[in-house]
Amino acid sequence: MQVAGYGLRVAGKAWKVQRTAAVVLGLCGLAGMGSMDAGAQAKPIRIMLLDGESGGPYHNWRLTTPVLKKELEETGLFEVTVVTAPEWGGDFTQFKPDFGKYRAIVSNYDAPDWPEKLRAQFEEYVRNGGGLVVVHAADNAFPHWAAWNEMIGIGGWRGRDESAGPMWYYQDGKLVSDTTPGKAGYHGARLPFQVETRAADDPIMKGLPPVWMHAADELYGTLRGPGKNMTVLATAYSDPKNHGTGHDEPMLLTVRYGRGRVFHTPMGHDVAALSCVGFITTLQRGTEWAATGKVTQRVPTNFPTATSTSVRVDIEEMDPDFLKGAGDPIRSR
Ligand code: ZN
Repeated sequence: MQVAGYGLRVAGKAWKVQRTAAVVLGLCGLAGMGSMDAGAQAKPIRIMLLDGESGGPYHNWRLTTPVLKKELEETGLFEVTVVTAPEWGGDFTQFKPDFGKYRAIVSNYDAPDWPEKLRAQFEEYVRNGGGLVVVHAADNAFPHWAAWNEMIGIGGWRGRDESAGPMWYYQDGKLVSDTTPGKAGYHGARLPFQVETRAADDPIMKGLPPVWMHAADELYGTLRGPGKNMTVLATAYSDPKNHGTGHDEPMLLTVRYGRGRVFHTPMGHDVAALSCVGFITTLQRGTEWAATGKVTQRVPTNFPTATSTSVRVDIEEMDPDFLKGAGDPIRSR
């Protein structure tokens, strides 16, 4: 865990840490609000935040769901309902989420499978224009569900290998696919890393700096999938000095599935990673885009720079272990 005012040096790179007590909105706050009639109330955008299982002890959804909920609701745009699914193998007969009530589903959920009827309802929801937001290990879920893998573009772990599709990364300034066989899903130790914009004109990315330093997190690499209708918005260099692939790995991406919009961020392993202002901003903007096709939010003034991370102390403190250190960063996923 970083401490305010301390510079860090890992793998020959140095960066600074900026810590902020609370929300710092852009000059006008929510840009979308300015165009409304005086006194008119914007109808909140209904969001389902899905949780209930993670693949082993790596991810504590009971801890991260309230963080994601707070980060979405503080925009003033969203009304977030947490929907907790049974664990796989449990009783799904009473689990009947009304997907159609929501403009987007934010998945903080990693289960191996779902009943066929539920899968069909979910596919229909996204195909008909429902939004989907995939956070970190949610891209580990459902390895054998073809439509899910198409929606997320790329995924890892849970036995995925070359049969899941090629690896996708940036090389010489463009997205390439690599069919080399092997397991899908890998990361090094949790360290800060730079995120580089690859689609500056995308509504989610507009106004973000071309390069920014993400707070300590797992940098997912060797993710595999169909990569169909996928746009990589940003990448991060997976440094071999930190057991990385040596490739510029997809770090923010969108996928079109039928009429649905999908925003996928492989970042966000734990509360420390979720406290990054860069993570928060892209989650908020990506969720609005998935739900509505537009982004009306300003980039906050405390956004990280190319050499300085920026973390929210009020978010960090939502993790009771925040001051104790973060366990074994290599084994976790
Ligand atoms: Zn993780």
